[in-house]
Amino acid sequence: MDSEIPQLHIFFFPFMAHGHIIPTVDMAKLFGTRGVKTSIITTPANASPLSKTIQRSNNLGIEMDLKIIKFPYVEVGLPEGCENVDALTAPGTSMEMIIKFFKAAAMLQEPLEQLLKDCRPDCLVADMFFPWATDAAAKFRIPRLVFHGTGFFSLCTSACMTMYEPQKQVSSDSEPFLVPGLPGDIKLTRKQLPDMMRLNEETDFTRMFKASKEAELKSFGVVVNSFYELESAYADCYRNVLGRRAWNVGPVSLCNGNFEDKASRGKQATIDENECLKWLNSKKPDSVVYICFGSVANFNSDRLMEIAMGLEASGQDFIWVVRKDKKHEDGNEEDWLPEGFEKRMAGKGLIIRGWAPQVLILEHKAVGGFVTHCGWNSVLEGVTAGLPMVTWPMSAEQPFNEKLMTEVLKIGVSVGVQESVRLVGEFVKREAIEKAVKEVMVGDNAGEMRCRAKALGEMARRAIEKEGSSYSDLNALIEELSSSRDSSKQTN
Ligand code: UDP
Repeated sequence: MDSEIPQLHIFFFPFMAHGHIIPTVDMAKLFGTRGVKTSIITTPANASPLSKTIQRSNNLGIEMDLKIIKFPYVEVGLPEGCENVDALTAPGTSMEMIIKFFKAAAMLQEPLEQLLKDCRPDCLVADMFFPWATDAAAKFRIPRLVFHGTGFFSLCTSACMTMYEPQKQVSSDSEPFLVPGLPGDIKLTRKQLPDMMRLNEETDFTRMFKASKEAELKSFGVVVNSFYELESAYADCYRNVLGRRAWNVGPVSLCNGNFEDKASRGKQATIDENECLKWLNSKKPDSVVYICFGSVANFNSDRLMEIAMGLEASGQDFIWVVRKDKKHEDGNEEDWLPEGFEKRMAGKGLIIRGWAPQVLILEHKAVGGFVTHCGWNSVLEGVTAGLPMVTWPMSAEQPFNEKLMTEVLKIGVSVGVQESVRLVGEFVKREAIEKAVKEVMVGDNAGEMRCRAKALGEMARRAIEKEGSSYSDLNALIEELSSSRDSSKQTN
């Protein structure tokens, strides 16, 4: 802890989804290691899995606690306990439920303001899905930082798309267009865009995203889970061309030093972590491909069946995470697995049904490739582990992240997805899966790609060490927040 910096107290308020809560808690821990007192604001059902993490941090001398606010699911007509996006991801979940969830999230403004009034923290780091948080914090003269949960490349892509609207200049959904203003001659198609950029209509979501962009411009700045060396041209563009104040503090997952912290990120794993590592210990270095599509995507049985066939045909050893219980909703046993698949794959493939200890797996030396849906946390965790990837974007900003992996960093091979399809993804044929997996694991360019990926993994680690780019940016941010607090105290 830097003794000359007076202790700050920062509130962190993540959106209620694992892809947002996990990196926010990691980020709070990182601030905590620099002597900042941190509080995580969340709802009861999201709080209980965090209490052990917080306890472990406290045991290490990190001052961290939870502030719990009620989630108004009853008021908006959601089922009891529906407090996390993962409760809304079963295939067939209605749009109405999702709208209700966001309506409930917007009702958190009042309890947030009460907390800010009572505790008067020095800063609020609030998720981009809470656009009203900037005004809420301003009422108490508290600076608000925005956390988007994505990297500089996709932040710049979104900003350039909003500014220039190149998607309106093409005559079909599949005609490529250049993203103006974005370094690197990046081309996209309308099909790859998230709904709110693709559709020409105003909805609750487009209004929320617009409000979020406006709130960002009024806020103290943006904290980004990334490191400068990974996407320097885009970090520069975001700050110097697009004029945003931003600090890169990642990869935040590296704050998890010990086994338990890594094993219990997000949720309790549905496999014994030691069993999983034992299985990996029996494998040769770089020989296992890890397949996981994050915490939201939920494939239909026909898509899962195709993945199984593609994996088998690739001939590679694998760990495959499937977000399905043993029994399918209609009661059929495993209708998504080909006949006799698990018997044939015994010793060769491990299926994890539910939640995997992802960072523990990724950093094991036996793992040599990652098939990912390109959620930013997964991408960055893969980069940090020094892994080449098969990119399989499904929705949101994931197609942008794919471009970064395949065209800018050249550590990714696309599985060939053409279109964003929320939750279930586009149907990808087994031959394409087989080809992309082989290319990343044993193809002619696999060695070169792995070398590039390993070099990036080393840079990621250096970034958060003393004098590293993220270490220094975090210091600069803490110093700026301290002096802004001190000067606002003087004017009071
Ligand atoms: N994750 C995990 N185990 C799983 C699935 C996901 O630990 O079985 C973690 C993963 O390490 C990452 C987060 O959940 O930190 C998912 O975030 P990401 O941005 O990759 O995707 P999202 O879930 O937001 O689509």
